Amino acid sequence: MSDLVLRVNPILCDAHGLCAELLPERITLDEWGYPIVDEAPVPRSLEPHARRAVAACPVLALNLERRRAAVR
Ligand code: SF4
Repeated sequence: MSDLVLRVNPILCDAHGLCAELLPERITLDEWGYPIVDEAPVPRSLEPHARRAVAACPVLALNLERRRAAVR
């Protein structure tokens, strides 16, 4: 398991839906076509697919980020 998580910027997202087509294991679409992203750490086996989905987003709304450290 990596420490990378997927996050979507809801302000930038235009509901193109491309990310859900490329990464259905982690992204589904709501009834308006906006992505519902599973924010659990991305398994290493899915990382290449996740990077492809991030790169394909036409408005750069999808990001792969390091998981934030827990606040104590
Ligand atoms: S590809 Fe980008 S713009 Fe389209 S639904 Fe996914 S995050 Fe939103």
